[in-house]
Parts: sequence; C-alpha cells; structure tokens
Amino acid sequence: MSCADVERFLGAYADGELNPERRRDLEAHLRGCPGCSARLRELEEQNAALAALRGDEPRPPAALKRDLRRRLRRKVLLTLARVLILALVVAAAFVPMVIARELPPLARVLFGLSGLALCAALAPLVWRALWEVKNVVWVRLAVKEEDGQ
Ligand SMILES: [Zn+2]
Repeated sequence: MSCADVERFLGAYADGELNPERRRDLEAHLRGCPGCSARLRELEEQNAALAALRGDEPRPPAALKRDLRRRLRRKVLLTLARVLILALVVAAAFVPMVIARELPPLARVLFGLSGLALCAALAPLVWRALWEVKNVVWVRLAVKEEDGQ
C-alpha cells in the first residue's frame, strides 16, 4: 500500500470502517511510515475534538435557569407596567385637545401643539417600552425552547 492509498483510506480507518484485509495492509504501512502515522494521529485528534464539541456541550445549571425565569417574570411585569403608564400619559396628552373645543381658536392651537410636543417627547420612551416587550418575548421563546429539549 502506498502513502497515497493510506491518505485515501485513513478517514475510514480512523472511523473503524475498513474491512479487515485493508486494515491489516494499512497498519503494516503505518508501522513503517512516520509521515502517515503522524497524519493518523492528527486525524484522531481532530475527531476527538469534534466529538468533545458535539457531546459535552455545557448545560446551564438548574439554579441559573430558575434565577433567569424569576428575573424574566419581573421584567415582564415591569414592562407591562411601563407600557400601561405610557399609554395613560399619552392619552392624557390628548385631553387638552378635547377640552380645547370650548376655548378660543388660539388657545386651541396652543393646546394642540402642547399635546403634540408631549407625544414627541414621549416617543423615545414608547420606543424603549416596545423594545423591552420585544426582548421579553424573545427571552421567553428562548426559555421555552430550552425547556422543550
Ligand atoms: Zn506513508
């Protein structure tokens, strides 16, 4: 068996998939060829590293999961409260516009503008609240997926 043959069959040999006759030939070559022996060791190390990656993936401990779930629950409540408060404040911003019907035109315009200004000032907060909701939903889905395994 030549070095080129060994190179071709080395993968199958490392996986234990060669027939006995070919395996004997290959082992005979390996005993007399340092280059192919080194190549085999390299391949076996790669296979071991891959197996370690596949098999020994660290799993989060139960305490960490519980803690994460508790923090997630708190975050959900906090986000809901924030969204509710923002909704109330934005609704309140439109109250002057409603009241303004009984006021002179200039006051109506001023109230309208103040309502719009308040909405504009709140926009980043609303955006932030929506972002939080998105994060909470995302984490929730991730936790569910983790539990599903
Ligand atoms: Zn060789």
